[in-house]
Amino acid sequence: MLTTAPRGTKDILPQEIENWRYVEAAMRRICAQFGYKEIRTPVFEHTELFKRGIGDTTDVVEKEMYTFTDRGERSITLRPENTASAVRAFCEHKMYAEPAPTKLYYIGPMFRYDRPQAGRYRQFHQFGIEALGVDSPAIDAEAILLAVTILKELGLKDLHLKINSVGCPNCRPQHRAKLQDYFRPHLEGMCSDCKSRFERNPLRLLDCKVPHDHEIAAGAPSLEECLCEECREHFEGVKKLLTAAGVDFEVDNTLVRGLDYYTKTAFEIQYVPLGAQSAVCGGGRYDGLVKEIGGQDVSGIGFAMGMERILLALESQNLLPEHKDGIDAFIVCPNQDNLEAAFKTAIALRQAGLKTEFDFLARSMKAQMKQAGRLNAKFAVIFGDDELARGAVTLKNMAESTQTEIPVDDIVTILQTEVQKYE
Ligand code: AMP
Repeated sequence: MLTTAPRGTKDILPQEIENWRYVEAAMRRICAQFGYKEIRTPVFEHTELFKRGIGDTTDVVEKEMYTFTDRGERSITLRPENTASAVRAFCEHKMYAEPAPTKLYYIGPMFRYDRPQAGRYRQFHQFGIEALGVDSPAIDAEAILLAVTILKELGLKDLHLKINSVGCPNCRPQHRAKLQDYFRPHLEGMCSDCKSRFERNPLRLLDCKVPHDHEIAAGAPSLEECLCEECREHFEGVKKLLTAAGVDFEVDNTLVRGLDYYTKTAFEIQYVPLGAQSAVCGGGRYDGLVKEIGGQDVSGIGFAMGMERILLALESQNLLPEHKDGIDAFIVCPNQDNLEAAFKTAIALRQAGLKTEFDFLARSMKAQMKQAGRLNAKFAVIFGDDELARGAVTLKNMAESTQTEIPVDDIVTILQTEVQKYE
């Protein structure tokens, strides 16, 4: 138990880190191209922020939050997503005073008490963006394009983009009434979540995962018929721009996102080969959120991508580059009497910017050479008694298996020059 990570969490091991960095670097690069700046918010917030921001009737708030009372009797929640926090920061730091839009991105761990399985964890990582302060459909299209650009740049094909409009507080009441009329006769046989959401948030019945309920939901009246003029125009604007940008999409009128704050545009990108956990990206517009958490009436749009799912997808398609780990120099020092000189040399080499390793276990000469090979060292610097007596050490080029004697005083300059030849 003590040597096992909690259920639904996992270590990201040194041999996996390069993959994460590779994906993160692509995200950062493309965010810079699109004018998004990074924000890092705390991993915990006041519970109320998520209740208000995400919505009381959502699965995330009802069932999945890691909530606890801290020693100061405050209710605290580990962030289950980053939008509410980013919006909180937007208000707290008066970012609305800057010219719109405010374009933010984040990468970090999120926490949900989910049912763990491949691609679904309790601590997982999301990359996401938020653009605040612009109503134009162009920013929706740009956000979607940014998501698609990242996934394509990473080499993922078989992407399936679904978009919908979930309306606004003006047109949703009609849709809500229609939905209730439709679901009322079926309600008796539906799950307890559906029953409890029927009054509070009937839109969420469209999203139920219980197969029987899902089938019923498939026949529900479409929201598109109920959209008000403004929402309809906005949706048309998004579709037009996506088409102009050459982005393939499917309009899916049953797409409602799990979080309550969405208005107008909702979208999801699936990477079909992932199967059950194929959703790699989800997002939408949230025009009511800033006000809901106590800020001004500022609109917003954003999305989040699951890092683990993207990595799974890249791995399954062999799309991750090979990383060759290695060091510049390994100091071989079999005689412990020479340890101090070898140790100082390691310091000098590192100060000169060279990746340098050292033997800590007083291993034999042979074992140390083996270790140099294992660490993929370009050079072994051998502190042998005979050479040291002449004020020299042996420099062995590991790849070419050649060796020369060099003066101790010149180790740093010679190695710097030699290593450069390999760059
Ligand atoms: P959401 O914040 O629920 O809209 O999710 C956005 C994206 O985060 C999803 O499309 C997934 O890729 C990812 N995601 C959500 N929940 C989890 C989880 N429990 N484990 C791993 N990835 C997740």
